[in-house]
Amino acid sequence: MSERLLKGIGVSPGIAIGPAVCVRGTLPEVPQRVVARSQVEKEVRRLRAAVRDVKRQIQTLKQRAVDRAGVDEARIFDAQLLMLEDKEFLRGIENLIRENHLAAEKAFEFKALEVRDLWAASPSARLKERLADLNGVTVRVIQHLLDRGADEPEIAQPSILVAREIGPGLTVQFDRDQVIGLLSEEGTRTSHAAILAHSMGMPAVMGLAGALDRIAPGMTLILDGTRGTVLVDPTPAEISDARERAVRRRELEHQLERAVDQPAVTTDGTRVVLRGNVDLPDEIAAARQHGAEGVGLLRTEFLITGHTALPTEDEQAGYFRRVADAFPGHPVVVRTYDLGGDKFPAPFRAPVEPNPFLGWRAIRVCLDEPALFRVQLRAALRAAAGAPIHLMIPLVTRLEEVDRTRELVAEEAERLRQQGIAAAATVPVGVMVETPAAAVMADRMAEVSDFLSVGTNDLTQYTLVVDRGNARLADRFTPHDPAVLRLLKLVANAAQAAGKPASVCGEMASDPVSAFLLLGLGYETLSVAPPALPLIRWLIRQVSIAQARAAAEAALAARSARLAEDIVRFALADAVDLQLLDPDARLPTGRRSATFRP
Ligand code: PEP
Ligand code: MG
Repeated sequence: MSERLLKGIGVSPGIAIGPAVCVRGTLPEVPQRVVARSQVEKEVRRLRAAVRDVKRQIQTLKQRAVDRAGVDEARIFDAQLLMLEDKEFLRGIENLIRENHLAAEKAFEFKALEVRDLWAASPSARLKERLADLNGVTVRVIQHLLDRGADEPEIAQPSILVAREIGPGLTVQFDRDQVIGLLSEEGTRTSHAAILAHSMGMPAVMGLAGALDRIAPGMTLILDGTRGTVLVDPTPAEISDARERAVRRRELEHQLERAVDQPAVTTDGTRVVLRGNVDLPDEIAAARQHGAEGVGLLRTEFLITGHTALPTEDEQAGYFRRVADAFPGHPVVVRTYDLGGDKFPAPFRAPVEPNPFLGWRAIRVCLDEPALFRVQLRAALRAAAGAPIHLMIPLVTRLEEVDRTRELVAEEAERLRQQGIAAAATVPVGVMVETPAAAVMADRMAEVSDFLSVGTNDLTQYTLVVDRGNARLADRFTPHDPAVLRLLKLVANAAQAAGKPASVCGEMASDPVSAFLLLGLGYETLSVAPPALPLIRWLIRQVSIAQARAAAEAALAARSARLAEDIVRFALADAVDLQLLDPDARLPTGRRSATFRP
């Protein structure tokens, strides 16, 4: 079984069952051809004509994406169009034709490989993600120049497309009755094609290394975009099991759809505030569509990643305003730069450190680089002139970090006033509780700030001493560990005693079982990943605070993470059908309503 079950990254949920259609999508063999000096200008004209034709093809695909996925999603084709409009890039190819007498396709291949190497070596995640666009454009132009037509397979029946790399073009190229699922060796959750597949509701698994070697054309596959798995050559029993799971998931989706406009209120009347986490501008639309009451975590590092210069005050203020405009009347919590750790984007120079997660990161960087920090604070103050913008400081370990940030905010507010620039006189400043130090000091942190928001990703990492990105330790990385739960309870109690709001914005809040536990621990504001909003809203409407509190109390007394999680699942099973919530859920053994002892 395990050899037939392949594991990748689930980037778009849902189950697809069908035969594989394999697309190699690699660069065609480009013959080494030189042209006579007299033919050089003709070759340049051939290149320009091909670029023009391919631009037209991409515009057609973009229109198809508008029809199938929406205007915002279709913008991802702009990256490919921009490449074909990039004067420097095109001049480089023309120079290769003129100076080295290369044929247009060889010159294009050389230049594209040069750019590819440059981007692949860059530390910028964004540039790396654009490699799929570059590859897509290169394959198209070279195929056109070689007069081969696009590498498009014949699809006779509903199939699962398997490719090394899936660009946005391939995602929208086929009709839904031809392609029912996508599988690629490369790609991550934030790849353009993944975002498109998600908006189109097409199940997709990416990042499955070696897929093309293990899957032959025509083989039957069960692709599960929720679990991130692909089962090759399934038995009839496995196929009927997958069909049943697909039906159960659809049932849940129908229930979720019905709840989308309803408030997140528990069965015993507690109103829970549900906000969205926004990492990239693409997520604003999804958060809005799923009814987010503002943004509880606006990550700002992307403003630097993939850019050649640091963002200006105007650019940042414009972005904060744009996000605020999308959620009128609701707060937008701007998390100040969390640079360092694994995030040191290109235009920001940083030293190499032996332990970056224990090093120069987040608020430490900002306070040591006040010029960088002040620009961001000014942008937030300016955007706050017309909208409820809040600031939140990451990786706080000391009270002085909050005090100093407040001083800088006050200084910049005064300077903006003197300069006659429209800006708020101040903004609420919150502490992101994501270190054990901040959690243990939560009572004092609450005194010096306006709100607390728990970053459970880092809080778990630092409390349990488990690198959050280390796959080998993945089973040790759990916010259900009683050590983390005790800190979560401490923070909720401290905020309540100080009369300050407390929320959770780490991934824990996006998981239904954990969200139930968080309610019980005293958190009534949760900020979750936009795609998880409908599920968490629906869950809240099925449970009572009394049930959640009882579960949390028992979980706090558990002696291990596994027992704590079983306790919570067990309690939740009294309110909702866990199999419906997550068809793959691990159910604790024992009768549903029996008392579960830690
Ligand atoms: C966290 O640490 O929980 C968090 C939300 O911040 P990030 O994942 O950006 O570190
Ligand atoms: Mg964090």
